[in-house]
Amino acid sequence: METNDGVAATGDAAPDNAETSTPEIPAFAEVPEEVHGPLPVAELHLHIEGTLEPELIFALAERNGIQLPYADLDELRSRYEFTDLQSFLDLYYANMAVLRTEQDFADMTRAYLSRAALAGVRHAEIMLDPQAHLSRGVALETCVNGVASVLAVSEQEFGISTLLIAAFLRDLSEDSALEVLEQLLAMNAQIAGIGLDSAEVGHPPAKFQRLFSRAKDAGLHRIAHAGEEGPPSYIIDALDLLAVERIDHGIRCMEDPELVERLVHALTPLTVCPLSNVRLRAVDTLAEHPLPAMLAAGLNVSVNSDDPAYFGGYVDDNFAQLKSVIGLSEFDCVRMAANSIRSSFASEERKTEMLAELASSGH
Ligand SMILES: [Zn+2]
Repeated sequence: METNDGVAATGDAAPDNAETSTPEIPAFAEVPEEVHGPLPVAELHLHIEGTLEPELIFALAERNGIQLPYADLDELRSRYEFTDLQSFLDLYYANMAVLRTEQDFADMTRAYLSRAALAGVRHAEIMLDPQAHLSRGVALETCVNGVASVLAVSEQEFGISTLLIAAFLRDLSEDSALEVLEQLLAMNAQIAGIGLDSAEVGHPPAKFQRLFSRAKDAGLHRIAHAGEEGPPSYIIDALDLLAVERIDHGIRCMEDPELVERLVHALTPLTVCPLSNVRLRAVDTLAEHPLPAMLAAGLNVSVNSDDPAYFGGYVDDNFAQLKSVIGLSEFDCVRMAANSIRSSFASEERKTEMLAELASSGH
């Protein structure tokens, strides 16, 4: 979506006054990033608890009189060297201890949206892990209402349309997930769908068939993490047994050519999180990330930040590093931005609006 025709025509105008130098107007493709702003995107893979920045963790701990096991910000940041998914999850759950009140959840959500707006996010589908808070004695209403109260005004305040997705922890039982889903439905929580996250290996999609069937009956959208650390068969099972509409991560599909063909054919969205994959050692370095191969295969991939406070950046940081490290082209970045918008659960009207903004963004 490079649109430089109109500008080129302007530059060729006024040939009758050759000695008056016409200011050179660069084609849009040459306009530096800071002029046309970040790429407008939809963020489809984002855990709100993963947006808790160290500064906010300390601020909330002080407000709630909670003693943190770190002396200062530097000591907390030094814990951000992860060896695998589990080593991250241990810190992630420990830091959630600072979230106690509706106001805490609201402040965290507001902080994400304000940063996401700068990153170019125009629509966000935000996952919340209710079980991670219930197990700490925080009421379901507290976490859901705290986040939802800010999402209700996100479009007016931040220019970001939003949807809330209740994600379930796959290392807990299906009965626990079902119980929480029934409570969410009973309280008429404003959720658009359900997801499946946390420790993947050893907790295959087959474990959650009743949960996803119940969500489908209730008219909810369905997504699941699969093929991040788990094998390609988890992606197949998420599609076949859980009837998911999107796969979160899905990078290990590349190990199964037949699966790739199926995903390409069905245009199944894969919400890829490059910086997260590097931090959690799903891939060794960004240079070795399968994203270029996934694009070349014709997969419907988008770029997302997952848990940006922990993984070194928001969506704009992911795009910037993909460009500088992998040499990803502007064309591919725009293509993935369009994928993110089309793969969202936003209304058709909202998608059209966002695609129009992308087309006229100068990218
Ligand atoms: Zn995730």
